[in-house]
Amino acid sequence: MKLGESVTILWGVGEQRAKALEKLGIDTLEDLLLHYPRDYIDLTSPRNITDTVPGEICPVRASVFRKMGETIVKGGMRLYKAQVGDSEGVMNIVFFNNPYPLERLHTEQEALFYGKVEQASQGRVMYNPQVFPPDMKGLWPIYPLTKNISNGIMRHLIQLALPTADQIPEILPEAIREEYQLMDCVQAIRTAHAPENFQSLSQARRRLMFEELFVLAVSLGMLRTYAHDTKGIPMEPHSLEPFYQALPFALTEAQNRAIQDLIADMCQNTPANRLVQGDVGSGKTMVAAAGAYFAFLSGTQSAMMAPTELLAQQHYNGLSSLLGKLGMRLGLLTGSMTAAQKRKIRQALAEGEIDLCIGTHALLSEGVEFAKLGLVITDEQHRFGVAQRAGLSRKGNHPHTLVMSATPIPRTLALMVYGELDLSIIDELPPGRKPIKTYKISPPKRDRAFRFIREHLVQGRQAYIVCPLVEAADGTPPGLRDAVAYLETIKPAFTGFHLGLLHGKMRPAEKEHIMSAFSAGEIQLLVSTTVIEVGVDVPNATIMMVENAERFGLSQLHQLRGRVGRGTGESFCILLSDSRNMGTLERLKMLCDTNDGFRIAEYDLASRGPGNFLGWQQHGLPQLRIADLTTDGELVTQAQQAAHKVLEKDPFLASPENTALWKQMKKMMDSVGGRPN
Ligand code: ADP
Ligand code: MG
Repeated sequence: MKLGESVTILWGVGEQRAKALEKLGIDTLEDLLLHYPRDYIDLTSPRNITDTVPGEICPVRASVFRKMGETIVKGGMRLYKAQVGDSEGVMNIVFFNNPYPLERLHTEQEALFYGKVEQASQGRVMYNPQVFPPDMKGLWPIYPLTKNISNGIMRHLIQLALPTADQIPEILPEAIREEYQLMDCVQAIRTAHAPENFQSLSQARRRLMFEELFVLAVSLGMLRTYAHDTKGIPMEPHSLEPFYQALPFALTEAQNRAIQDLIADMCQNTPANRLVQGDVGSGKTMVAAAGAYFAFLSGTQSAMMAPTELLAQQHYNGLSSLLGKLGMRLGLLTGSMTAAQKRKIRQALAEGEIDLCIGTHALLSEGVEFAKLGLVITDEQHRFGVAQRAGLSRKGNHPHTLVMSATPIPRTLALMVYGELDLSIIDELPPGRKPIKTYKISPPKRDRAFRFIREHLVQGRQAYIVCPLVEAADGTPPGLRDAVAYLETIKPAFTGFHLGLLHGKMRPAEKEHIMSAFSAGEIQLLVSTTVIEVGVDVPNATIMMVENAERFGLSQLHQLRGRVGRGTGESFCILLSDSRNMGTLERLKMLCDTNDGFRIAEYDLASRGPGNFLGWQQHGLPQLRIADLTTDGELVTQAQQAAHKVLEKDPFLASPENTALWKQMKKMMDSVGGRPN
């Protein structure tokens, strides 16, 4: 058997099982071996019945004394009972609605019964125990499963594939394994699937987690080598005074600090590599604008990548007037433009006729070349893969980079994702902002909310209503609002007002048209989906209502709410929900109580657990199989140290001993859409 062969070569895997396994991401024997248990049942020390304590969950070794057959109780439930025992005691076992375990046991047969021992009036009893052969030892693996694949089958298939583990190449250099006392990879994989005790299991897991974090750290390290560690384009100091003069407002202290940080970086020999983190509405765009202007004064071009066309378009509109006044030429490049339009922009870029090009992923595409790229800006960076970000930098000769994000992340995660990235925090909102007043209401109050919205529209304000769906389809749970139908149903309540619809399924040009009509005040009330979540900036919009608020994550609601409260008018956010779930109500209340994005993120982290926090993909990181960046802090640090050592000696992983590591790194980076070189 070969590691790379399909699971279908295993006895017992037909088309149906192969399909089911595919759902778990398992195609090859190797995938099967890397499908690690999520938990284990401890069978290491079976008990005698008399040694058990009621309430305890444990394995009991006993023989079947007699089977009592089936009884039907009130409500129609079927019970299958047997009495089991050893030389000193007896215990009943009972299965609900499941005759099979007892059918497989004959009288006098010995077995291990695993479950919770309870004290009933007739003596000890165990309900629905798991049954194992009597000589079973060690820890029994529990796997993540899917329909049609039971735990027993999964374990069996993995045992069949286990001999091929020998073919898995060791990617950790011997010296590293010695220094951090890590077992070899074949042993670790074997142990993970069939551990004898907790001690060997924890060593195996440590090794596997280390490896995963190590590969990640090496990948990120290599990305950085390309971006960092190299000579950049040191820029000469220039006065930003004209920029400040052109602004319609004075910048906040925090904005000024971030700009100073960035400019200082850009005057260094090594390329700037700075993250600007600031809550929604804190004015991060101005930092980017200042950077682009500075790059322009130094005779170079800038590129600014945004995650959506809408946002790119909006940045383009907003910055064109500001920077245009300063003599800069701006360009826009998005996927939906015609081939001819794109060609024109590409040519202008290559000939140096555009000073700041704003765009989407389209900026990354082949054929986009810059005459002299000096600064690369990524807005809402968490929306991009780490590799994508680096991809844009490679369009220039080690340009300076600036990334901007409103999403705060836990420290260990930040270390891993950003490593040596320098950080500027904008911890202050522009003056005059009043906190957004947030209320949670239930559907009977919807009409009152509409009245409230109408009053504000009459005063010249604008509003958003956000629905969780674009269009209802078969299988949509009842009660979920969809934007398309919603617009129709609310028309009578808003006769005489200009309404608009915006959602992700519309063509980009259509979206753009609607958005500029809303910006210009021609649309007063916009019914929308979460397409407006990031970045959309219309200061005159002061009310946001969110239907089915329970469907959204807290941080997401906070981002959405950030679309209002962007001007000096008093702003409101109305969360509509009929949920009675205590947890949900508490989360929504949290949002009503605070406007502080960092606190909300912390709360989100605490209430959902680190595993679910924001999700890997949101940070552009690969899904990890076994390690958890948010909890395995110490191991993260060790893996990073080890990665450093390896990259110091062999920065491009070119030596033969690092070939397997290189392959592994490529695989990981491919999974997030791109890799260094
Ligand atoms: P974000 O940090 O969410 O990207 P933006 O850069 O979109 O925030 O800025 C939000 C709004 O605040 C914009 O309308 C912008 O013009 C305005 N703004 C930015 N800085 C200031 C300032 N110093 N004073 C007043 N308004 C500002
Ligand atoms: Mg922004």
